[in-house]
Amino acid sequence: MGSGARHDAKFGMTNPTSAGAAAGHGARTSGYVGRLAPSPTGALHLGNARTFLLAWLAARSRGGTLRLRIEDIDGPRIQAGAAAATLEDLRWLGLDWDGEVWVQSQRLPVYADAVARLFAAGHLYPCVCTRAEIDRAASAPHGPDDDGPVYPGTCRGRFPSLAAARAATGREPALRFGVAAAALPFVDGCAGPQAGILRGDFVVQKRDGGPAYQLAVVVDDHAQGITEVVRADDLLPSTPRQLALYRALGLQPPAFRHVPLVVGGDGLRLAKRHGDTSLRHLRAQGVAAAAVVGHLGWLAGLVPRGTSCLPADLLPGFAFERLPAGPVRGDEHGLLG
Ligand code: GLU
Repeated sequence: MGSGARHDAKFGMTNPTSAGAAAGHGARTSGYVGRLAPSPTGALHLGNARTFLLAWLAARSRGGTLRLRIEDIDGPRIQAGAAAATLEDLRWLGLDWDGEVWVQSQRLPVYADAVARLFAAGHLYPCVCTRAEIDRAASAPHGPDDDGPVYPGTCRGRFPSLAAARAATGREPALRFGVAAAALPFVDGCAGPQAGILRGDFVVQKRDGGPAYQLAVVVDDHAQGITEVVRADDLLPSTPRQLALYRALGLQPPAFRHVPLVVGGDGLRLAKRHGDTSLRHLRAQGVAAAAVVGHLGWLAGLVPRGTSCLPADLLPGFAFERLPAGPVRGDEHGLLG
């Protein structure tokens, strides 16, 4: 699987700043491998920029390697041009990465392969339920932090194959992973011990035949040799699902560190409605990259408010223990004076 990466001419072979960074931030001799995994669904804002800065600091402070992949398989949410803009924003901030940029939409056969293995091993079943049907049949209400109601198992054991499901219903089926355990407990590097509750069978291949996020992220984190995933804690509920996939595929999972979210005034994940906190906007208003990095460093508990600095200036004092324990506000940044 590791050789499945393909070079995308659009994004360039390697980050041009990598060579300089290798000299500046250590020799990449440790076994630590982290990653940046942006979804090109919109402009990079202070929330996702802080998460990426933390992932960068985690890797560079350990002399580790940092991979980058574009998670562009979430069809309708993907915006044209957003991937290239994200890379440019990351470079503007002064963040670098190692090696080729992986692009998920170019790796579809690799995900199909993993799906075939899971199917052959009896972990998957075809599901023709629509979202509306699942909503009607679901016994439990869905929480605010998850991706829908608990699947009630309607199609479990119903069809022997995708073709049979198609023939019987005239619908294009998805493939669901049949959850065997109630929970897969794990210890998160930031959030501590987690019960790891598995909320129902989940989709690994969508009706259009494309991979679901849960499947693609596991296949790629493994294929890129990731040893630690650093991401925002809105993905904490996804982790037990990913652990179930690692187990079913016979793969060793990475360690996980879910950092508290950057939120708006309503306590929800920072978004457009909280005002334009995109790096594009700040930059267009004349805010320097160093001011943004310093602000992100302050949001991470590393430097006093009002600091201007380079990402590398944050390395000496970096520790996840310094992160504020709860969510931090991203909309009251004061960077525009
Ligand atoms: N691509 C996802 C996002 O930008 C992150 C997925 C992950 O870190 O596992 O929200």
